[in-house]
Amino acid sequence: MKRLTILGATGSVGASTLDLVARNPERFEVVALTAGRDWRRLAELAVAHRARAAVIADEAAYAELKAALTGTGIAVSAGPAALVEAARMEADLVVAAIVGAAGLPPTLAALEAGISVALANKEALVCAGHLMTAAAARSGATLLPIDSEHNAIFQVLESRERVRRIVLTASGGPFRCWSRERMQGVTPAEAVKHPTWSMGAKISVDSATLMNKGLELIEAWHLFGLSPEQLGVLVHPQSLVHGLVEYVDGSVLAQLGPADMRVPIAHALAWPERIATPVERLNLAAIGRLEFEEADRERFPALALAEAALADGLCRPCVLNAANEVAVAAFLEEKIPFLAIADVVGETLAAIRPRRPETLADVDAADAAARSSAQQFVYLNHVSRFAAQHASG
Ligand code: NAD
Ligand code: MG
Repeated sequence: MKRLTILGATGSVGASTLDLVARNPERFEVVALTAGRDWRRLAELAVAHRARAAVIADEAAYAELKAALTGTGIAVSAGPAALVEAARMEADLVVAAIVGAAGLPPTLAALEAGISVALANKEALVCAGHLMTAAAARSGATLLPIDSEHNAIFQVLESRERVRRIVLTASGGPFRCWSRERMQGVTPAEAVKHPTWSMGAKISVDSATLMNKGLELIEAWHLFGLSPEQLGVLVHPQSLVHGLVEYVDGSVLAQLGPADMRVPIAHALAWPERIATPVERLNLAAIGRLEFEEADRERFPALALAEAALADGLCRPCVLNAANEVAVAAFLEEKIPFLAIADVVGETLAAIRPRRPETLADVDAADAAARSSAQQFVYLNHVSRFAAQHASG
């Protein structure tokens, strides 16, 4: 029996993980489940999967969650510190599936406690990858990637020394063929409608700007210990080839699979074994051909910003990530247009340069400084558009 804690159990990755858990009751048992706000869904999941503990990040939801689970024997707690406690409960694997830098403290706590982590929460690694990999090395915990591209690389990476480069594929998102002009009027509903994957809102917007691929390059840098020049991106609209490793002798090993997150999640849950999944099988003869193209950094400047942040070193990725979280939230709330997401991130990167983060407190400080700067740029964008409308109208 593998004992699992799932951070972010009510999200898209959380749901795919629990689907696999339910299909393999002889293999997995649930220790703790956590959620951000949705206490109703969390209570249902905790009962259905017989969790020992249910933890809600939003303290205001504690009373409702507690009432919903009265008489079940499931321990209930709330708040960020309770999330960290949940991540430290005795378990064999913590599935890190919270969205955003909010997932960093509990994920890091699990690694520090020597509990292996199956990581979907790429933002945690982008902000503090060096702290996470150091904690894992100290405690002996294993960091297993769930992100499909990184899971693909993990599956085909034999030895780092013989690698020439690795390539992450990108679907290109819903606006792959759109001009910048056409992208000006993109609505949140259009941006979250991903052509090949079904995911949470934030990562769907990141896929539409290609920031997701930029964050993933930084994620790969921390996970695989290669230099930034050895990490590449290739647009592959079908999302069937997820990652490629090119070796010094010219061999290229790739991992293929349907665009269903249950494939990489099953790999990480069962590793080093494999379990069956109910996903649709690849029929390559029916697919006929595989398509690839270069990424366009002019139409998708977020990718170039992330590449520059990666090349520039450790504190820039944290600033990039925080500014992006603020900008994506502002776009989803219809405060700024789609194309302003990358503007806000670029302006924030240019405006602040916190010191190189050595501790979690340094990361928090860089993150907070970037968020407050990004909020100002969101506000300025709003004001200038209002003024322009006023002048022309
Ligand atoms: P989601 O929005 O569907 O779910 C996010 C989960 O985090 C929910 O359980 C939510 O309650 C919880 N949460 C949100 N804010 C929180 C906070 N402040 N404190 C504590 N919990 C909080 O997101 P998702 O699509 O499942 O993505 C989760 C992570 O996995 C992201 O980092 C994403 O980039 C990564 N990822 C997702 C997919 C996918 O297919 N969805 C694929 C690859 C990587
Ligand atoms: Mg991915």
